[in-house]
Amino acid sequence: MRYALISDIHSNIEAFNSVLESIRTSNVDKIAFLGDIIGYGPNPNECMEKLREVTDLVLGGNHDWAVVGKTPADYFNPYAKAAVDWTGEVLLDTHKKFLAQTEASSLLDGFFVAHSTPRYPEEWMYIMTKKDAVDNYPFLERNVSFIGHSHQPVIIEFENAQDINVYREDKMALDHDKKYIVNIGSVGQPRDGDPRSCWVLFDSLENSVEFVRVSYNIEAVQEKMREFNLPKYLIDRLIYGR
Ligand code: ZN
Repeated sequence: MRYALISDIHSNIEAFNSVLESIRTSNVDKIAFLGDIIGYGPNPNECMEKLREVTDLVLGGNHDWAVVGKTPADYFNPYAKAAVDWTGEVLLDTHKKFLAQTEASSLLDGFFVAHSTPRYPEEWMYIMTKKDAVDNYPFLERNVSFIGHSHQPVIIEFENAQDINVYREDKMALDHDKKYIVNIGSVGQPRDGDPRSCWVLFDSLENSVEFVRVSYNIEAVQEKMREFNLPKYLIDRLIYGR
């Protein structure tokens, strides 16, 4: 089976549509979304509608849950909070109900998916250091666990409970006898210095992971964000991919 894995769209419909076009040419069997469909960007309803139409699995992220009151938003930075508040005002009830019913982690066929971490999927922690990775090791029940949340694509390979290798390859074959955490990056707000959208093609037969980068019309998104008075910091960061 070939899976398209996408995460952190953040109300960016231009990025989402470009990624879907790229997915369409890649002959995938299923599309799974790992959370944060809303927050930051200008098109929450359009993104929700498209998401519900095209995906086979939808997880919730911290922004999704904050908008529907399922997780507190007080720890959000002021920019994220402003975007969450604005989204709460414009998002249709049908989409709020949908988001309120999402899970933060799941099994999809043979592999694990979560928005934040395998260890505590509902606590929205990050895996940024070796210690973060090692702390998650006891919770890895499957060969591969896919996550989003940090907006930074990476493959973490565990040699054992203590030793890891970190890879940033475009494409990599995974070893069936090792454990992996793969961060699939972000569609709508990349933060690895590359402003292009990121999605992952996972081929379960080859056991391979491929990061696909896709350009989209950033200026069009920024224009709409200005129109809706969304924070300048959020508008600017899209160009830099930070
Ligand atoms: Zn996010």
